[in-house]
Amino acid sequence: MKALIFTAPNECSVQEVPEPVRRPGETLVAPRFVGLCATDQEMLQGVMPYLADGLARYPVQAAHEVSGVVVESDADGPAPGTPVTIDPVVGCGRCAACLRGVETHCPDRLEMGLRLGMPGGAAELIAVPTRKLHPVPEGLSLRSAVFVEPGVTSYNGVKRFGDVSGKRALVLGPGTLGCIAAQLLAAGGASVAMHDPAGTRRGLIAELGAEAVPEIEPDSYDLVIEAMGAPSAIHDGLRAVAAGGQIALLGVQPGTVPDVDVNALVFKDATMFGVLNGPGLYDELLTRMAAGDVTPEVLLEADFPLERAPEAFELMARRGRTRPKIQLVLGGDS
Ligand SMILES: [Zn+2]
Ligand SMILES: [Zn+2]
Repeated sequence: MKALIFTAPNECSVQEVPEPVRRPGETLVAPRFVGLCATDQEMLQGVMPYLADGLARYPVQAAHEVSGVVVESDADGPAPGTPVTIDPVVGCGRCAACLRGVETHCPDRLEMGLRLGMPGGAAELIAVPTRKLHPVPEGLSLRSAVFVEPGVTSYNGVKRFGDVSGKRALVLGPGTLGCIAAQLLAAGGASVAMHDPAGTRRGLIAELGAEAVPEIEPDSYDLVIEAMGAPSAIHDGLRAVAAGGQIALLGVQPGTVPDVDVNALVFKDATMFGVLNGPGLYDELLTRMAAGDVTPEVLLEADFPLERAPEAFELMARRGRTRPKIQLVLGGDS
């Protein structure tokens, strides 16, 4: 079968690799849509921290955002043809974190296409633990459903805000996580402002039901989403948050952020928290997506067949793109 393989920093190709062998408790899935994100890009470029930490090494079968159809499972597993998405974080199942149901905290977790050699989803077939599959609800396309993997991080952050109705929200960063957070906040009844420093996504921001703001008003927002992973957004968020407000950090910073005005949190009696993924939230978010609270198709800039995956990464690296998401499409459109 064919799969996208990262072979060395900045080198990737679609190669012929052996088909996966399904073990009991696993399901064979044929991926149809594969979302590419900054993490995949970092893995390709050789700057993903797992590489430095020895948790990943080339060659890497790429990608972790997948929707597809079941090909084969155990007798009590999902029927062939069932449309599914996949939670790509696979805990050991035995440690304290796994027993609490938070596999993202498991020290021995596998991550599809990223961690401890688990093959990624940019392939014609993958074998995944059946418990990590989430069926796609009626009325939601596989092309949209693939957004659930990045989306659970946004959903987790917004959910932790509590009731957002009538609140003023600011989203920093019009990437995939920021845009999905904006749609969820708007669906919950918040008024949503988005800051787009590059100025290329004003059209998209309007489609999300948010308002593009050129300047950030200080002390004005009850809820702030940091989804840029840039030090400037930490400073902006601390300035923008209102008294008693909350700041959710969804982005990963390039390193430590110097000169953070921690006293802003104290004097405004504000809360700042980090969000890592959204364990246990897949089915809830898929239901919200099917209900139309999140319509991620508007985030899609382009798609490429698996064979042209290297071109997809070239496009991702280009500046000034008007929409954040690029997908691979396998096995024909559906
Ligand atoms: Zn991702
Ligand atoms: Zn574990």
